Amino acid sequence: MAAQVSPDVIVVGGGVNGTSIAYRLAADGRRVLLLERRGICSGASGRNGGMTGAGSSMHSHSAAGRAVYAITMRNLELLKGLKEEIGAEFSLTLPGSMDVITTEAQYLHLLEAVTEQQSAGIPVDLIDGDEARRLMPALGPNVLGASFAYDRGHLWPFALVNAFADAARRLGADIRTWSPVERLHLQGDRVAGVVVNGEVISAGDVVLATNAYTPELLPDLPAGAIVPARGQILVTQPLPPLLPFSFGNNFDKEYGRQTPTGQLLCGGYRRLDIGEGLGTYEERVTAPVLSGIARCLDELFPALRGNGVKIMRAWAGIMGFTADGLPLIGRYAPAPGLTVAAGFNGGGFSWGAAVGIIVADVLAGRDHGFDLEPFRPDRFHGDGELGWNNPFTAGEKNNPRGVLAY
Ligand SMILES: Cc1cc2nc3c(=O)[nH]c(=O)nc-3n(C[C@H](O)[C@H](O)[C@H](O)COP(=O)(O)OP(=O)(O)OC[C@H]3O[C@@H](n4cnc5c(N)ncnc54)[C@H](O)[C@@H]3O)c2cc1C
Repeated sequence: MAAQVSPDVIVVGGGVNGTSIAYRLAADGRRVLLLERRGICSGASGRNGGMTGAGSSMHSHSAAGRAVYAITMRNLELLKGLKEEIGAEFSLTLPGSMDVITTEAQYLHLLEAVTEQQSAGIPVDLIDGDEARRLMPALGPNVLGASFAYDRGHLWPFALVNAFADAARRLGADIRTWSPVERLHLQGDRVAGVVVNGEVISAGDVVLATNAYTPELLPDLPAGAIVPARGQILVTQPLPPLLPFSFGNNFDKEYGRQTPTGQLLCGGYRRLDIGEGLGTYEERVTAPVLSGIARCLDELFPALRGNGVKIMRAWAGIMGFTADGLPLIGRYAPAPGLTVAAGFNGGGFSWGAAVGIIVADVLAGRDHGFDLEPFRPDRFHGDGELGWNNPFTAGEKNNPRGVLAY
């Protein structure tokens, strides 16, 4: 029997980040083993809204804001080229997106955010209610205006993630599903592999692309650095063309779009979930959240009211929220041999394609050209009490103006 050859790199997690990383590492000629405890795209990557885009309204002028913008912009460029590069067809469409305003508080927030983004060079406009309705006639009279972001749109997440996995396989990556990693295998301080079903698999490098589940494998990550956050989505029956743009509302807490097959997909209202959806790994929908989402559709698009539009499906997924709203990307300094790409909050599809290249460059010691300092995976260590300042939450109920989405 031939001796098993150890992989060069083990990637844990088969979502958009893990598969993209596996693809880029395989393209570098590395022997890659990807381990996924369920199926490919069974985590947040298979349960999200499919919105994507570049930009940050979060501290646009700060180093973090610039770093977010640089990576998400690169991500967008990569997405545009993936059809040619790997033959991926994932319904990418980038008509722009509208964050619609229905209250004075939202107007003041977006006025500030748009002004800041424009001065940082991000292509976004503030438009009034009439202009918003001219662009998207289904919007109701309660819409006072909108911010219109140009570099935005949506895609089919399942197709993209599987395209990355297929491309990685074609380049020789070994992708094993239903393979739960129980723990990291340590040699002294160094991560030297993983343990799966009681068996040690050794590798020169291990990459955790485990998003919300990262604290399970990284016990020394300070509590609160990455927290599971449940999001819920409902989908209607197919309808005639109604929404030419994806939309957000209420500090981007509610969001939605029309799929190429005509279905309206809408999510949000985490503030009606138990504990605002924070701290649970249970992928379960709840009635208050779903009725909130349905109400959101009714209020924004009055044409839907009283027309017997049917809800076809609803689901829940678990995001990895981080204490400061930024992901963790890079080598994990406390444990040589370990690299982390996790904690993508509500926006992993604006990152995954770029993260694959960044991680491959990091492992190869190549210059990737990005400022990764704001995403340093050990930035929460040694702080004593960890400050929770996630702009996606900042107390959904208590502090609505604290939420600035990227
Ligand atoms: C309701 C909802 C709506 C969203 N809407 C959007 C949106 O419109 N646009 C957007 O960009 N983002 C959105 N997001 C967020 C987006 O889905 C995530 O940021 C992104 O999918 C993260 O990808 P990932 O690969 O890092 O993690 P995941 O897709 O969660 O993948 C992590 C994988 O790791 C596996 N894993 C974990 N532990 C182990 C282990 N021990 N062993 C083996 N495998 C393991 C899991 O099974 C999982 O498949 C939304 C998320 C939700 C839930």
